[in-house]
Amino acid sequence: MSKQQEIMSTLGLAPTWRRRERIGLGVDTSVVVREPETISAGGAARESRNDGASTGGRVDDGARIVRIARLDWNGFAPDVDACVACGLARTRKKSVPGVGDVRAEWLFVGEAPGAEEDARGEPFVGQAGKLLDNMLAALGMKRGQNVYIANVLKCRPPNNRAPEPREVDACRPYLDRQIALIRPKVIVALGKSAATTLLDVEATIASLRGRVHRYAGVPLVVTYHPAYLLRNLTDKQKAWEDLLFARRTLRHAAATATAGTA
Ligand code: URA
Repeated sequence: MSKQQEIMSTLGLAPTWRRRERIGLGVDTSVVVREPETISAGGAARESRNDGASTGGRVDDGARIVRIARLDWNGFAPDVDACVACGLARTRKKSVPGVGDVRAEWLFVGEAPGAEEDARGEPFVGQAGKLLDNMLAALGMKRGQNVYIANVLKCRPPNNRAPEPREVDACRPYLDRQIALIRPKVIVALGKSAATTLLDVEATIASLRGRVHRYAGVPLVVTYHPAYLLRNLTDKQKAWEDLLFARRTLRHAAATATAGTA
């Protein structure tokens, strides 16, 4: 048991999810099924890794992870706002912790805030966000009702560059805490960056779609990023299929949970 696991276990916060080494597609990182009916338990488990590198080598990481893992919703956004664990703290205007129903069954996870999100402190409020809202509406849902929206990174990378691994590592405890607090029934990873970051694989969206993966034990479905769909209209149909697949996955998870308690 590592020091970090020991701390988490002592505080009753275990089990934590252990991040695996970067792996290729040949390794099973998901529960690979085409239909939710055949979802089996297990799958990739991961943890908020904190090895000092993510915070520029500081050694208080274990304590930081424990503190974040104990945050409640009142403390969550202020904590993100005060975070200086990576360099993005210097360039952000506002932190963007996440928005929505804290008891949602659906959790949508994007990559990182863009300029508009940085200015307003809310995820997906630009053009891509409008499309996301429309996709939700097509499912009979809306932002804030049974839906929570977050990003892998809570602060905007300058010029919308791709997140760096150390930034992802520094921010991961926040996403893990959100998942632990919300306890969603399904996570939808929006876009290649969010999907490959969360699943820790190098893969195309095409190869990750149509399967149920897992993050922190929660079923995870991959689809295209709304910003990509704005430029590639022909893939909207595929995104719609992904959302229907996510809904079937959620219903399956809910039915399984009910059966388990009957
Ligand atoms: N793109 C993202 O991935 N997240 C946002 O919040 C906005 C755009």
